[in-house]
Amino acid sequence: MMHAISFSALGGPEVLKYQEVQKPKPKEHEVLVKLEYAGINHVDIHFRRGIPGIATPLPHIPGADGAGTIAEIGSMVKDRTIGERVVIQPMLSCMNCVECKAGRRNYCHAFHILGEHKTDGTYAQYVSIPAYNAFPLPPSIEFETAASMGIAYLTAWGMLVSKAQVKKGDKVLIMGAGSGVGMAAIQIAKHFGAHVITTASSDEKLEKAKTLLGADETFNYTKVDLAKEIRIRTEKKGVDIVIEHVGGRQWVPILKATKNGGTIVTCGATDGFDPQTDLRHIFYRQLRILGSTMGTDQELKEIITLLAEKKLSPIIDKIFPLEHAAQAQEYIQDRKVFGKVLLQIPA
Ligand SMILES: [Zn+2]
Repeated sequence: MMHAISFSALGGPEVLKYQEVQKPKPKEHEVLVKLEYAGINHVDIHFRRGIPGIATPLPHIPGADGAGTIAEIGSMVKDRTIGERVVIQPMLSCMNCVECKAGRRNYCHAFHILGEHKTDGTYAQYVSIPAYNAFPLPPSIEFETAASMGIAYLTAWGMLVSKAQVKKGDKVLIMGAGSGVGMAAIQIAKHFGAHVITTASSDEKLEKAKTLLGADETFNYTKVDLAKEIRIRTEKKGVDIVIEHVGGRQWVPILKATKNGGTIVTCGATDGFDPQTDLRHIFYRQLRILGSTMGTDQELKEIITLLAEKKLSPIIDKIFPLEHAAQAQEYIQDRKVFGKVLLQIPA
């Protein structure tokens, strides 16, 4: 048996219960990971509330991100050792199709994320995952850092590097500095030599975006007209790239804030997925609007290398004990958070 957070009904944070459940047994191509920390993401909250059209088998253990050590090895797994430190690559896919074989698992027809609705996740003492999803963790990366990385950094990397092809000198608008993806995107954009303008909803967060993450310019999007503010700051041209996961009321202002021929990459819609749009801004100004979900295994390896070299380093806002997962998710929902929120898993 093991301790885990699971829910037997969809709803608010109160459905998350700390209980004793069956410890998973690794299948032949899997390894059992004994978790040290789990990372919390917005996707965990969406699936806890329920997503129309998607049935989550209940009871269910949430959680995509995590890091720990290998505790058991499936019968067909070779070259892995008990006690090996690993970080979880949270993307699961068929491993057999053209996209998977080309290393583009995030384009697989069977792509899904660990702990979403098809598999139990990381809010637990143990999780069983395919061996190839347990990436070796260099000794210089702490478990806390590793558990903060998967979804946030892989998403941000996919958006900035493979989709927008960010380069030195680009002006990049990054929405929501305090979110996991916002934090990761600021660090990655700065790593590639871009000029970062970022937004947040409080002065305290704006200050942290500059001092902790290295953003060049910041403004409070609740106090100004976003499109006007960007045009003032860019000599009326607009930015080269927008990293966007807000949608809703911010969508049209974002179109207007992008320069002619500029690129908007979207990976989410926390303010609404069906915003009003204005096609004139898209065709007349020749905008490129790209969707993005996660990234590739190769990209995760590059991120791990940069974390090991301390060139990227996640900000951890708060760590809760696993038992207090409901409070931890409430803390994220209150939107006071800056950086990642983790769960410490009991030994
Ligand atoms: Zn596939």
